[in-house]
Amino acid sequence: MGHSDKVEKNTNKKIKKKWSYLVPEEDEFKRKKYTLNKPYCSIPINQSVIYWNGDLGLCCCDYDNSIMNFNIKKNGYLNTLFSKEVIKFRKQGFQKKHSICNGCDLGNADNMGFQAFKKRDN
Ligand code: SF4
Repeated sequence: MGHSDKVEKNTNKKIKKKWSYLVPEEDEFKRKKYTLNKPYCSIPINQSVIYWNGDLGLCCCDYDNSIMNFNIKKNGYLNTLFSKEVIKFRKQGFQKKHSICNGCDLGNADNMGFQAFKKRDN
C-alpha cells in the first residue's frame, strides 16, 4: 500500500465531505500518478525536514521518520545533510526507491510544471 493510499484509507468520510469543495471535479485538474518510465522525485534533493528533536527526515511524507535515522545535534545541519550516508538515502528518494515512495505523487507537481513548460515551447 502506497503512502497516498494510506492517507486515503485513514481519512474519514466527515473530513472528506467537509473539504471536498477543494478537490477538482474535472479530470484534467486532478493530480495524476506517475506514468513516466523513469519516475523521480526532486523533493529530497531540494528540501529537507528537521523534526523538533533534531532528527533529519527524508521529506514531509516521512512524517514518522521511518526512512532515515540521523540527527543534526552532533555534527550540525550541513555536515549531516551532506554526509555520505544521508546523500545515499536522498538519492534513493530521488529515484523513488523507498517503501513510502510507492504511490506517492507529491513530486508530480515538478513533472506537471515541466510538461507545461514543454508545451509552451512548441
Ligand atoms: S516520492 Fe518518496 S521522496 Fe518523494 S515526496 Fe514521496 S515519499 Fe518523499
